[in-house]
Amino acid sequence: MENNEESDIVTFKDLGLDEYTLQAVEKKGFEIPSPIQVLAIPRLLTGDTNLIAEARTGTGKTAAFGLPIIQNIHEKCENVQALILEPTRELAMQTCTEFQSFTQGAYPRTTVLYGGASYSTQIKDLKRGCEIVVGTPGRVKDHIEKKTLDLSKIKYFILDEGDEMLDMGFIDDIRQILSYVPAKRQTMMFSATMAPEIQKLAKTILNNPETIQIAIAKPAEGVTQSAYMAHPHQKIGLITHILAQHPDFESVLIFTSTKKNISSIVSAIKRAIRGIQVEGISSDFEQNDREEVLLRFRAKQTKVLVATDVLSRGIDIKGINLVINFDVPRDAADYVHRVGRTARA
Ligand code: AMP
Repeated sequence: MENNEESDIVTFKDLGLDEYTLQAVEKKGFEIPSPIQVLAIPRLLTGDTNLIAEARTGTGKTAAFGLPIIQNIHEKCENVQALILEPTRELAMQTCTEFQSFTQGAYPRTTVLYGGASYSTQIKDLKRGCEIVVGTPGRVKDHIEKKTLDLSKIKYFILDEGDEMLDMGFIDDIRQILSYVPAKRQTMMFSATMAPEIQKLAKTILNNPETIQIAIAKPAEGVTQSAYMAHPHQKIGLITHILAQHPDFESVLIFTSTKKNISSIVSAIKRAIRGIQVEGISSDFEQNDREEVLLRFRAKQTKVLVATDVLSRGIDIKGINLVINFDVPRDAADYVHRVGRTARA
């Protein structure tokens, strides 16, 4: 993101991530931090802020708490340093995989513990050693009671999906787990909603917390929106079909969340529609090249522009007929920014 020169765009580097963590972000193909990441990462990197965040799945919240934790635990440790509680096995597995994908070297090691799976494999993993544990409350509590898991030295405690936890009746398990962790720790709670019961729970587990809320902008008015359900391998075919149906459209913007997709979308459209002018643009481009690509698009020499979210914020292009979201934007605000590109048409 260093070659990104739009002054109003915050980069991952601005948030205080080090070179090592930035490499992981780059490898994931993340270009710009999501709102929850902008708000949470600097606070969590300081290591002493407790946080309540109202944010749903899809906002990038896993990276918001995962990247600072991984940056702060680079080395092999004798004891578990971080505990992340998730309400379901699927979310626990997903969070563990996301953490592992952010990890550059051999450490930190992340282990997942959930019910319905054999204890022996989990115990073997725990014995081998790990710095981060992701788990469901029931199984985590069982391991503590069996003395196969020691949380007495953790520095980070994350309660994800607080409202789901309450709905699923995990409150007693959570309270018991809390009695085994040090009072001096950094605690974060994420929840899609902040109903009064959640706030009550927050009061009992978080000391003097800061609260952050992800506000959702209002979509542009007068824009017709449609959604197509498609398997990943059908998407490019669907896009070329939509484009072929609208030969009269002069300017089409296609957004994708990752840079990796850009070249395959561009070449597939070129193959499918003879003579069509298609270009890609991402933060990998030098500033001059980006300006030239945008100039050609504004001048209607390029009909289709395939871009990452960098373009959806801050750049104003007039007269766009159609915006296609190749993948679902990672949060509502991004969707609003992307769709907003046609609002000025
Ligand atoms: P989450 O809300 O944590 O479940 O994340 C939703 C999805 O967004 C995951 O697939 C993440 O890998 C992805 N993601 C998170 N942060 C970013 C980002 N800054 N740019 C692009 N994708 C992201």
